[in-house]
Amino acid sequence: MELSVVIPVYNEAANVLVLYHRLQQAIQPLAISYELLFVNDGSADSSLDLIKQLAQQNTQVRYLDFSRNFGQQIAISAGLDKAKGNAVVILDGDLQDPPELIPALYAQWQKGHEVVYARRKTRAGESLTKKTTARLFYRLLTRITHTSMPVDAGDFRIISRKVVNTLKQMPEQQKFIRGQIAWLGFPQTFLEYDRLERYQGQSGYSYTKMIRLALDGITSYSNLPLKMATVSGFGVSGIAFLVMLYTLYSRFITRDYVPGWSSLMVSILFLGGVQLIAIGIIGEYMSRLSENVRNRPLYIVNETNIPEEVN
Ligand code: UDP
Ligand code: MG
Repeated sequence: MELSVVIPVYNEAANVLVLYHRLQQAIQPLAISYELLFVNDGSADSSLDLIKQLAQQNTQVRYLDFSRNFGQQIAISAGLDKAKGNAVVILDGDLQDPPELIPALYAQWQKGHEVVYARRKTRAGESLTKKTTARLFYRLLTRITHTSMPVDAGDFRIISRKVVNTLKQMPEQQKFIRGQIAWLGFPQTFLEYDRLERYQGQSGYSYTKMIRLALDGITSYSNLPLKMATVSGFGVSGIAFLVMLYTLYSRFITRDYVPGWSSLMVSILFLGGVQLIAIGIIGEYMSRLSENVRNRPLYIVNETNIPEEVN
């Protein structure tokens, strides 16, 4: 098997058939053996039925059906676990990542790059909030991690078998695939493309999911927030100590003291706020730590047409 295309699918019934045809048209001319691996991430619509119909017509169509919604990143990880290709393309199921770019990605991979990611030159049809938050997030992330993360790139990319096999050895529960791939190193390059509007349907990313992904990205690749909590703790304690000296001074030396309600309130509120923030930051890391300690399977498969591998 030369090429696998891994596609996470969450309520994409209106896109699946068009996606399938465009993928076929883009990949067939390459005249290589390939598979289209759909991972149904607990869709509530008819996505799975459509995929199964395609699988009946065409044995190149493989699918994994999750028992519930596990999230795009886990869907991609599952696809990578099952993909057989020497090279694997990761592509969104809503046609925002144009299948027509696959031959160009493939050509770059053939030149020996282990990773060729697709960088978004422009983003059409997305709200200003989404565009700005995404822009800020990628820049913040590159600043606070030691890993060099590509800016303005999603998961749309081609990766080699070597990279897939190394990814499979990374056991963390909080998947942030683009971060993992950046962390791995290897010779990487990129192509630019214009990100299109979603073809049909609605984004499966609520703000909650987006924030979760962002926090997963930050906490998995940076300890800076924890260090900031420590540093601000020291800073605030330092100030509090000076204020204490001043209080003692005015109480016993100058004896010029007025019951200071406002200063009391301000310092209590300020200290309380700083403490809560610090605890919250620790909590974010802690909760991820405990998820990993529980060591549950990353995803549960309901059904699939991929045969079990016999060792
Ligand atoms: N997706 C998924 N699980 C989810 C949310 C999204 O598998 O919980 C898939 C979705 O079907 C699509 C890709 O991930 O193929 C990107 O999601 P979406 O287009 O909703 O996100 P956006 O492009 O709006 O950021
Ligand atoms: Mg999309």
